[in-house]
Amino acid sequence: MAVSEEWRQQWIEAVSKIRSNVSYEESAQQLRSLQQTGLLKLTDLKYNPGKFFEAHRLLARHAPNLGPGFWIRFTVHYNLFAGSVLAVGNEQQVKQLEEIQQKGFLGCFGLTEKLAGVNSGGVVNTIAEWDDQTQEFVITSPEVGAQKNWISQGLVGELAVVVADLRVAGKRCGAHAFLMELRDAKGPVPNVEFGDMGRKTVGNDLDNAWIAFHGARVPRHTLLSRYGDVQPGNGGTYVSKVKGLTNMAMIGQRLFSGRVAVAWAALTFTRKLFEMTRAYSDHKKCWIPKNSTLTEVPQLQHLYLRADETLKKLENFVGSCEKQLSDCLQKDEIPPMALQEAIASAKILASETSIDLCFRLKQDVGSHALMGDTGFEQMDFLQACKFAEGDSRILMQKLARDRVRISSPLGSSEEQQLAKELQDAMKGGAKAWDANFEKVYDLAWQVVQRNVATVCPGTSLRLPCGLSKL
Ligand SMILES: Cc1cc2nc3c(=O)[nH]c(=O)nc-3n(C[C@H](O)[C@H](O)[C@H](O)COP(=O)(O)OP(=O)(O)OC[C@H]3O[C@@H](n4cnc5c(N)ncnc54)[C@H](O)[C@@H]3O)c2cc1C
Repeated sequence: MAVSEEWRQQWIEAVSKIRSNVSYEESAQQLRSLQQTGLLKLTDLKYNPGKFFEAHRLLARHAPNLGPGFWIRFTVHYNLFAGSVLAVGNEQQVKQLEEIQQKGFLGCFGLTEKLAGVNSGGVVNTIAEWDDQTQEFVITSPEVGAQKNWISQGLVGELAVVVADLRVAGKRCGAHAFLMELRDAKGPVPNVEFGDMGRKTVGNDLDNAWIAFHGARVPRHTLLSRYGDVQPGNGGTYVSKVKGLTNMAMIGQRLFSGRVAVAWAALTFTRKLFEMTRAYSDHKKCWIPKNSTLTEVPQLQHLYLRADETLKKLENFVGSCEKQLSDCLQKDEIPPMALQEAIASAKILASETSIDLCFRLKQDVGSHALMGDTGFEQMDFLQACKFAEGDSRILMQKLARDRVRISSPLGSSEEQQLAKELQDAMKGGAKAWDANFEKVYDLAWQVVQRNVATVCPGTSLRLPCGLSKL
């Protein structure tokens, strides 16, 4: 569904008021106000994904000025928090989103844990134990490594979707999501401890918290129960509602929309930084050897051309992934494996290529890159894109592992050769995987290239510096 020009103008006007030189409480208040305008509904991800992605893109245009703080706050609330409720919540829980929006409440997404880091989700050590007597879940961080960390707006949010390993009658039922209250009018709820992650290089208008659970009790209805529920009585029984679907796989659905939004954010940041820098270099006089402008310096001139070409290819690729994903979101379908792989490739390419292009721009524009308010001081926005919603290396590990499982010929001769070498090496034991890590990443890069060429025939892209060999 395309967005109307009227809506676009209203959204542009609303986000132009956002400021980042404010405290995190004030920044949170800006998001409360923005959501209370009703311009973007917490359910738009499902019912109007075009609007959801456009809202993210238009906000990312401000990233070279604002930095990553507000963009992350926004996407955590709309995609990770509300999106998880949409993905794994029952009808009643999804309906709650309306009230949350009207009240201006903010939600966090508590997945990452101190030990598991970027592997969180695959590893979940927070425990949610069913207490059949009181019909509550008891949420605990059994050790420091299980504490949640990096949780965006964790110091201000009223609510959170918290991912914990569910235990019913002593049995482990795997990672599940709980929609729980973190704060009420009186302050933080009992038995939940919060700490500040500390000062970051950028984005200090966003609060990032570590959260420890010391036996926090939450009622039965907090379990997001579209796919699995707990039946009280006799110690409790876990009931799986849809055979063959794990709850974590369904929570992970949110990462696909997040990856597309993050890929767009990286590309939008890069376009805007190049635009801002070009506006400077077009007017900066430079002697090369005659009186000229900085834009005419050969390496910069070619970098502008190459960046534009590369960004066009990537916008085309990410746009195509967005279109296919929007279709799945509206039909409430899980994206097919081929699309999941294409989205992972888009996320890796968009963030890594953006880091590469912006770094080169910084090297070639002279002293301007050291000045405040040029956008260069916000380049760590791209660092956040690199690991948000699936770290580049973790996604590449997955692409390579999935490829090695395929024995039939697939892809370029180089891809087939690398896959065979890794398959052979693995016959010597699992340790061969890490010992051959450069081949693993080379194979992943081949898979990324194949995905681009499949979705956008004739398109090829250079290996970004951040993914090159050590
Ligand atoms: C500003 C900000 C906001 C965030 N908001 C949220 C949020 O709201 N909710 C939430 O749940 N999380 C959030 N996160 C967490 C984020 O998504 C990452 O999970 C987290 O930053 C991981 O950091 P780490 O240093 O612990 O990673 P580590 O796990 O220590 O990894 C460090 C690096 O090692 C490499 N690595 C690690 N494991 C492997 C492996 N098995 N194979 C290959 N390479 C590996 C990766 O390249 C990685 O970059 C946020 C993070 C930041 C910085």
